[in-house]
Amino acid sequence: MAERDGVIWFDGEMVPWRDAQVHVLTHTLHYGMGVFEGLRAYKADQGTAIFRLQEHTDRLFRSAHILNMQIRFDKPTLNAAQLAVVRENGLESAYVRPMCFYGAEGMGLRADNLQVHTIVAAWEWGSYLGAEGMEKGIRIRTSSFTRHHVNVTMCRAKANGNYMNSMMALQEAVRDGYDEALLLDVDGFVTEGSGENFFLVRNGVIYTPELTSALEGITRDTILHLARDLGYEVREKRITRDEVYVADEAFFTGSAAEVTPIRELDGRAIGSGIRGPVTEQLQRHYFDLVHGRVDKYTDWLAYVK
Ligand code: PMP
Repeated sequence: MAERDGVIWFDGEMVPWRDAQVHVLTHTLHYGMGVFEGLRAYKADQGTAIFRLQEHTDRLFRSAHILNMQIRFDKPTLNAAQLAVVRENGLESAYVRPMCFYGAEGMGLRADNLQVHTIVAAWEWGSYLGAEGMEKGIRIRTSSFTRHHVNVTMCRAKANGNYMNSMMALQEAVRDGYDEALLLDVDGFVTEGSGENFFLVRNGVIYTPELTSALEGITRDTILHLARDLGYEVREKRITRDEVYVADEAFFTGSAAEVTPIRELDGRAIGSGIRGPVTEQLQRHYFDLVHGRVDKYTDWLAYVK
């Protein structure tokens, strides 16, 4: 990743990609206290646009607030930085990664002598869980790792350190031949994937876990809007793993994962074991929406030029 041409926005300046470096004593590298975002820019019909930029920037600031980090830039500056990074790297479509971290000004957990630094990078990134998975659905396993407890880690924050749990779950799933993990909370209820929110469909009703230890996903919110517009009843509730086994359909959502169908959990086919019709419909509408083809939501696109 480090050896590329292009530019990265670093504390207010565009820096050549290879020069966007930090010291080994960077505080966040040691303790994982930082916040970040992941967004996509799409080649929409009227040009390249970042999808739900403002909402992602708002969540970045909420995450920082939860961790008590003071971001040194305001929201308009960071919105402009994200648009500029896509534009100046000449990307037609992109994954955008803003991150705020503590620098190498000091060590120790008190963190009272540190500066908060901010970067924004962007690069091309295809389907997160593979093009085939988008069409046929992915195979997942229930993770042996429990999702964070709400009073151990702040799950509303998209915080760097939270992802150690995600990575262990994903690596376990991949090692065992699955595409992704499904994490349960401390009480055994379904929460989310390692980097995606979870949905299931049964008898035409769409269900998704309540937001306790799952991230408040922006794609989740987009799908809630879309599903209601399409006339579906949507319920947020506690979901058990056996409810997933007997679901008609299931899918993951995320800025990276978009809408990814799930065809199997723990060796049990979900529904008919292929992408279901509701998932397919939502997926199609989601792609129309991010490409600026749904009039009601064109405000969700921020054009880079
Ligand atoms: N849960 C987790 C743990 C995630 O990392 C992500 C990706 N940000 C999501 C859910 C989906 O969130 P969003 O739709 O905002 O990308």
